[in-house]
Amino acid sequence: MASDGTSRQAAAYPRRPFPRQEQPWPGLASRMDPRPDHGETSYRGSGRLTGRKALITGGDSGIGRAAAIAFAREGADVAFNYLPAEEADAQEVAALIRAAGRTAVPLPGDIRDEAFCTRLVADAVRGLGGLDILVNNAARQHSVDSLADITTEQFDETLKTNLYAMFWITRAAMAHLKDGAAIINTSSVTAYEPPENLLDYAATKAAIITFTKGLARQVAGRGIRANAVAPGPFWTPLQPSGGQPPEKVEHFGAETPLGRPGQPVELAPVYVFLASGEASYVTGHVYGAVGGRGGP
Ligand code: NAD
Ligand code: MG
Repeated sequence: MASDGTSRQAAAYPRRPFPRQEQPWPGLASRMDPRPDHGETSYRGSGRLTGRKALITGGDSGIGRAAAIAFAREGADVAFNYLPAEEADAQEVAALIRAAGRTAVPLPGDIRDEAFCTRLVADAVRGLGGLDILVNNAARQHSVDSLADITTEQFDETLKTNLYAMFWITRAAMAHLKDGAAIINTSSVTAYEPPENLLDYAATKAAIITFTKGLARQVAGRGIRANAVAPGPFWTPLQPSGGQPPEKVEHFGAETPLGRPGQPVELAPVYVFLASGEASYVTGHVYGAVGGRGGP
């Protein structure tokens, strides 16, 4: 694999067929085959987030981990949330942040709980000494073929994880964010092209875009920016842990013009840009990275 983004060879990234694999939810990056590329060996920073303080949900694996590694290497201190079952992945991320010379604040807990979300922000602020960047990235995605089989419990869990938590965490964070702060919410290509097996999930991803656009208008006067990212198919534990049926994981990303799933590291520069002062005139926007199909 190339050592930096400029010489990165798209052809070097894995494509189908992937080995058949399933994991119990929420899944671990360390148990994926091939292991996702979160930029562990390739992402190089250049001081674009020096001294900033970020909170990332779902920072243990996938897109959130790629953002955590990149933020740290760009000079930011990083607090991140994950589920207790993901402690092994989280420890790897904490070690990578510390290896970049930055403060890591791992904060396990379940964001379906309002009281925990409020505490999460308080603990992040205490651990970091403030907060400049909030990345609402955690999500639940559970594939169900028929509407008749989506239980009320599942619908509730998807909305709690993907929407309520974003609302609770953002509301709590607002007391700490100042002029120059950035909020980044992870949406999805499914907001634009909802697959038939992800009705509840895709609906939350569309709502995230609308929430982000409205929020951007509300907080612009305070110098705070809010944007969303809409990824296409990315190689993360979300997919083999119930997000897709196993046969779809084997051919994941094949339907895109690029013919492969994205690797989390390929989104890292997008999160860095939206978090940094370089994006000072970018707000209320949705940034796509979809391999050529769908999205904004
Ligand atoms: P991932 O599994 O690596 O990350 C999702 C994280 O959500 C998990 O690591 C977990 O820590 C967290 N999470 C889930 N439920 C939680 C709960 N109740 N409490 C606390 N944390 C919880 O997968 P990913 O693909 O990197 O997902 C990150 C974001 O990217 C999600 O918002 C997802 O919807 C979005 N996304 C992913 C894809 C894709 O193809 N992988 C495509 C579009 C959008
Ligand atoms: Mg995870």
